Parts: sequence; structure tokens; C-alpha cells
Amino acid sequence: MMNKGKLAPILKLNLPPPDETSLAKFLTESGTFMDGELLVNRNGVRIVSQTQSDSPPLIQPSDNQLSLADFDAVKVVGKGNGGIVRLVQHKWTGQFFALKMIQMNVDESIRKQIAQELKINQTSQCANIVVCYQSFYDNGAVSIILEYMDGGSLADFLKTVRSIPEPYLAAICKQVLKGLWYLHHEKHIIHRDLKPSNLLINHQGEVKITDFGVSAVLASTSGLANTFVGTYNYMSPERIIGGNYGYKSDMWSLGLVLLECATGKFPYSAPQPGEGWVNVYELMETIVDEPPPRAPVDQFSPQFCSFIEACVQKDPKDRASANELMSHPFINMYDELAVNLSSYFTEAGSPLATLFGYFVVAWLGFNVCS
Ligand code: ATP
Ligand code: MG
Repeated sequence: MMNKGKLAPILKLNLPPPDETSLAKFLTESGTFMDGELLVNRNGVRIVSQTQSDSPPLIQPSDNQLSLADFDAVKVVGKGNGGIVRLVQHKWTGQFFALKMIQMNVDESIRKQIAQELKINQTSQCANIVVCYQSFYDNGAVSIILEYMDGGSLADFLKTVRSIPEPYLAAICKQVLKGLWYLHHEKHIIHRDLKPSNLLINHQGEVKITDFGVSAVLASTSGLANTFVGTYNYMSPERIIGGNYGYKSDMWSLGLVLLECATGKFPYSAPQPGEGWVNVYELMETIVDEPPPRAPVDQFSPQFCSFIEACVQKDPKDRASANELMSHPFINMYDELAVNLSSYFTEAGSPLATLFGYFVVAWLGFNVCS
């Protein structure tokens, strides 16, 4: 018997073109017809198990028959350097997705590379990686259908809460480490662009990593490098100096992201207080030449300070791996608090959540000092 929501294997059919049949009026632009348990399009017929409820089958990342025409735009949820992200709804299943559109005119070989990179997370088996369902190239834009994360990014969330208390950070970090472990050890991929806006959250309290692969391909394309290399803020010293770099460069970025979440500000402060960096080269010089940032020992637990230190070692050989950090004492030190990320992400900023925040801070103060 099939699982709920699972689709049967595709049976190939030779359907006449939509405009030659009366069936055409029931089809979407992409030529998909769906009635109860029957799903027909030009790729074939699919039948959903008889034992299932009335709800339409959920779309799986392996379904290669999505088309942009099958989605209704709901709203814009974010804008990045290279593109725009919209919440969209699939017409047949009602399922929500994020549609990321990156405007660019790239040649065939780059498009193939991007498609190849995106296939990696179409087959992702990790709960802490944002699922990529499909990518399209149309009219000079690459469009990517992604799992929709209704809490937005950690960068968005930080704007609401300003900083994240350690117990929540430990729970968030645990999930990010699982995602990084999967990328590094299972998929042998370096993320290359780990930063708060590429860590997405949802109302279930899940934290997932997004946007790997595409940026790497785009950055390696000389004509697009300036637009798509994005920020140097979280880039490891060995990458900045143009040396060899590996998985450990992601661990450097993780350290900076966590420190920023804990303190509420980017760890490399600008030379003049209250001002931004004059230029990116000054920032790069500071990352390469100055000692790495640290968590203030009077404000954070020794375990957290030690975790950050393990991440932001300037020599990657001295830096801990995702695997090693999964058993770092910081990761499980708040387990007894059993924090609920789901309510934290959904209620943050509300008076009740603020009250709970005070309780957590008081608990921390008591435990760190005693
Ligand atoms: P940059 O382009 O510099 O890397 P970015 O990561 O913010 O910056 P995008 O990846 O285009 O740029 O994302 C823009 C915003 O869209 C994110 O900050 C987030 O708020 C939102 N977003 C991206 N992907 C999703 C998603 N899958 N679900 C929900 N919101 C998303
Ligand atoms: Mg992004």
C-alpha cells in the first residue's frame, strides 16, 4: 500500500496537444488535468491510492512536472541582491511554495551548471535543508520553486527580537549543525554563503539552510561575480585571501552568525562607532589581519564563548568541524529547559514572550553566576 500523499510511478501517455481536444478547457496552461485521484499531464497519468483522504496528493521534490503556470502569486516575501522571492500557491494542491526569481541572462552552460547544483537539494534527505522542488529558465530569469518557510529568515527575525537568548540559540544551532553536517559529510558540499538571511525558520520551530550551490556557480562566473558574490561579512579569512578553502570555511561563518544573533550586532564593528564600513577592503583587511571576535565572557556562558572560539579560529586547521561541534557542551547545556522554538518564532515580540524572555535571562544569570 502507498503512503498517504505519495504518488504512483508515472505511466507515459501520448496525450493530444491541449488545443486539439475538448479536455483542453480543463487543463492549466502547463497541460495538467486533475480530478480526484487522477492526475494527467503530458508526462503521463498518476493515480493516488484509493485509501487516501480527499486531500489532493502533496507535491514531492521528485515530481518533475511542475510548471510556472501552475502557480498563483500570493505576495512578495523578500528581496535579495540578485532577485525577488514570492509566496506562491500551487493551483491543484493548494500547497504553498516560495518562488525565487533571479534575473540574469546567462548562457546555456551556466544554466546547466545551475540546474545541476539545484538537483542536489532536490534529493536532499535532511530536515534542516530547504527543499528545492524545481528550477526553470524563462525569459532571462532563473526561477526556483522552494519549500516555503513561513517565519522568513533569521535576519528578518533578528530585526524583531534584536538578539536571541542562549537557550534558543543552542536549539537553533543544533538544527543548523545537522544541516551543515549533512551538506559536508553526506553531500560533500561547501555552502559558501552561510549568513542570517540564508537560515530560514517556520512556525513549527524548524530551522533550515538555504541558498547553497547557486551562489557558488554565479560567483564563479566572472561577469556576474560582482553582483552575486554577495557579502564578505561572513567570509572566512582563507577565502578572503583567495587561498584554498574547504568545509571549515562554513564553520567560520556559523560562528559569526551565532555571535551576531547573541549580541544583536555584527561582530566586526566599524572603525568609527555608529558608522558603517568605509569600504569593503577595510573590512576584509580586519578579518584577515586582526584577532577573531570573541563572545564577551561577562555576558555569555563559558560554553557559548568556547563554542564561538572553536568556530572562529583563523587557521582552518584549528577550527572545529560540524561533526565535532555537534558534541560540544554548549549544544545540550539547555536541554532541561526544553525551549519551544515553535512558540518563540511565532510569538516573539509579544508581551508574553517578552516576559518569558526575562525569565530565561534571570535563569541564565542565576546559573552562569552560581
Ligand atoms: P542575498 O541576495 O544578498 O544573498 P538574501 O539571502 O536575503 O540576500 P534571497 O535569498 O533572495 O536574498 O532572499 C530574500 C528574502 O526572501 C530572505 O531574506 C527571506 O526573508 C525570504 N525568503 C527566501 N527564501 C525563502 C523561503 N524559501 N521561504 C520564505 N521566505 C524566503
Ligand atoms: Mg538567500
